[in-house]
Amino acid sequence: MDQSKIDALRAQPVPAFKHLIDGAHVAASDGGTMDVLSPINGKVLTTTAKGTVADMEAAIASARAAFDDRRWAGQPPAARKKVMMRWADLIEENALELAVLGVRDNGTEIGMALKAEPGSAAATIRYYAEALDKIYGEIAATPSDILGLIHKEPVGVVGAIIPWNFPMMIGAWKLGPALAMGNSVVLKPSETASLSLLRMADLALDAGLPPGVLNVVTGEGAVVGETLGLSMDVDVLVFTGSGGTGRRLMEYAARSNMKRVYLELGGKSPNIVFADAPDLDQAAKVTAAGIFRNSGQVCVAGSRLLVEASIHDEFVSAVTRAAEAMQVGDPLNVGTQIGAINSEVQLKANLGFVDTACAEGGTVVTGGRRILEDTGGYYMAPTIVTGVTRDVTIAQKEIFGPVLGVMPFSTDDEAVQLANSTVYGLAGAAWTANLSRAHRMVRDVRTGVMHINTYGGADGTVPLGGVGQSGNGSDKSLHAIEKYINLKTAWIKL
Ligand code: NAD
Repeated sequence: MDQSKIDALRAQPVPAFKHLIDGAHVAASDGGTMDVLSPINGKVLTTTAKGTVADMEAAIASARAAFDDRRWAGQPPAARKKVMMRWADLIEENALELAVLGVRDNGTEIGMALKAEPGSAAATIRYYAEALDKIYGEIAATPSDILGLIHKEPVGVVGAIIPWNFPMMIGAWKLGPALAMGNSVVLKPSETASLSLLRMADLALDAGLPPGVLNVVTGEGAVVGETLGLSMDVDVLVFTGSGGTGRRLMEYAARSNMKRVYLELGGKSPNIVFADAPDLDQAAKVTAAGIFRNSGQVCVAGSRLLVEASIHDEFVSAVTRAAEAMQVGDPLNVGTQIGAINSEVQLKANLGFVDTACAEGGTVVTGGRRILEDTGGYYMAPTIVTGVTRDVTIAQKEIFGPVLGVMPFSTDDEAVQLANSTVYGLAGAAWTANLSRAHRMVRDVRTGVMHINTYGGADGTVPLGGVGQSGNGSDKSLHAIEKYINLKTAWIKL
């Protein structure tokens, strides 16, 4: 990464952003805008359109028309593949610009942002472009006077709602399979991180995606998000975000057309360290990175450290050293390992959780406070709390910040019970040199992703989806495609 190129990009003013509807940039119907605050310094970076109900309805109508006239679904697979491959190339060609814009908007450290945002988005779009002409229907095992065909059809109009932590990456997890299968999409990004996603959508048009196939509407969840959720013209709703919003989306579906709803929600993921872990120093460093990168604003963050009692003090010291060695600061400096918290609201919520943890018997061994306040930005020191017990708030509630709660355990069974003691089931890890124990942990910890002797980094070839209140369905891998197709049977008498 070249710091001078990053500095040149960050010096550029950011233009006002509008919706992308029917292939055009359009302002809100009532002219409303929202200020975009940069978490780096708390200053206004630019504005986005504050969408109205009418804006969202226009976007849905555009997507519906684009689907119904088959301007995209009706193209030969090879043509759709070409457009999506070109789109992935354009994302890569503009990677630094997209990453810097995104970091100015959401505060993720640039090293991680470059890989996780344009890097991962391009890889995802390319993956589904490559897959799209390899997904066929089936011929059923019928009596010989019957031909039973199972077609895989696009669903129609997909409504996608995404959060602020990785807008391009999570956006691509929805857009890649949805568009590859021939659907039209209306996407609603987060109020506090939409700019890089809007730019990425423009690149789709540059690559040749027909107007109306991808629409992006910005604004408040309770206004444009609700309109999307309640629409009778949206066939599938795919969502990444908090459980509270996920619950609402299910209600919207029930109150409208019973559209399918797929939810990728939060977690309280257990990172279980046994005394026989192959390399405890390495485990401590990866444990720190697994909770503190992107200031803990990662759905799969290992926010509960379950550590075997015999190594508790030694291991907590090693994780504390690793945390304190991590460079927190301006996310656009290449050396920064932990950038800014996305918003002041989120920063205050994180600090509130630390106060509650202390009131409930926890001890802060490092961090626990806002730092770099003179920058005007939203920074928090990586925080480790010991003395956490199974039922206290920081063991049960997702914080979505740089806060690690530590709990000791003595037996494998106790580790599993603690690991499974929340309503969530998104990710987890076990560190052990014992192969049988590792497999037992994979089997017994109730979660969508279980890491062994590492944390994070699972690529696009494998699904990411939660169990329990972490959601349903999966993003990533070929399995994600199932959300974006209908099966249709043709039963033909010969
Ligand atoms: P959020 O639920 O507050 O917002 C997510 C999106 O929903 C935003 O675009 C928001 O505007 C919209 N929204 C809010 N209210 C709405 C409503 N009434 N109707 C329709 N849409 C509405 O979540 P967030 O704070 O942006 O993101 C953080 C959450 O996302 C965390 O819980 C995190 O764990 C989760 N997350 C999960 C994954 C995963 O893959 N499982 C990945 C990243 C983040």
